[in-house]
Amino acid sequence: MINQENAPREEKATTLPASRQIFVRLHTAAGPRWGMVIQGRVSAWRGEPWDGGALEDDLGLLETLSLLAPATPTKIVAVGRNYAAHAAEHGGEVPPEPLLFLKPPSSVIGPGATIVLPPSAARVEHEAELALVIGRRCRNVTPAEAWGCVFGITCANDVTARDLQRRDGQWTRAKGFDTFCPLGPWLVRGLSAAEASALTLTCRVNGTVRQQASTGEMVFPPAELLAYASSVMTLEPGDLLLTGTPAGVGPLTPGDMVEVELAGVGRLCNPVSR
Ligand code: ZN
Repeated sequence: MINQENAPREEKATTLPASRQIFVRLHTAAGPRWGMVIQGRVSAWRGEPWDGGALEDDLGLLETLSLLAPATPTKIVAVGRNYAAHAAEHGGEVPPEPLLFLKPPSSVIGPGATIVLPPSAARVEHEAELALVIGRRCRNVTPAEAWGCVFGITCANDVTARDLQRRDGQWTRAKGFDTFCPLGPWLVRGLSAAEASALTLTCRVNGTVRQQASTGEMVFPPAELLAYASSVMTLEPGDLLLTGTPAGVGPLTPGDMVEVELAGVGRLCNPVSR
């Protein structure tokens, strides 16, 4: 289920302009399926949405369905220090070129799933981020070409064990625990690159705003990040690019409810437990 107590606030994302489409991945008796949201109901979608496909049978009202993470990536490319104010809060400079790292696909969880704090970490923090989901194989593209490889966007939480990040010097362990990449609640398709760079990104913990910024404050905008990443590795349909987090990162504790919202796109809610 989409986090029930907060369900009414999800509704606004289903009233997007007609040029935009919402794709969900959901749990069904026959296994995971894709669907398209149309006026609050979900119709099954044959195959992967980026492969074309077609609408099939009606699956019911969106709020009655159990949503899964709206991507099954072969890799998750992420970027550090891509908002100047966040770089500054950790005493770091903005890098001269994008600072890439990877998170494992095994870290992905869907909306409503629990972020589990590992015993080896003393301080685990939220990082609200805009995520791009790739729709077309993407290698050595220019920034002008990059947006054409994006299928849609969604909310992500780049959960990070901050103490382990500092101790290790590189980020694989700190960023890589199971459940450290909440994603969703759905993919929104049809935003231009300019529209994706003018979204309000907010993180709330137990209803209190912790992070809030415009995606226009990124040091390297999404299309530049994607072009840069594609000069290193081939991105496949379903892969994710996380575009960095703004200032205000802070700790998560057991019992918390953390939300990442992209205004007009959707709101991703996940509980936290030990
Ligand atoms: Zn991050």
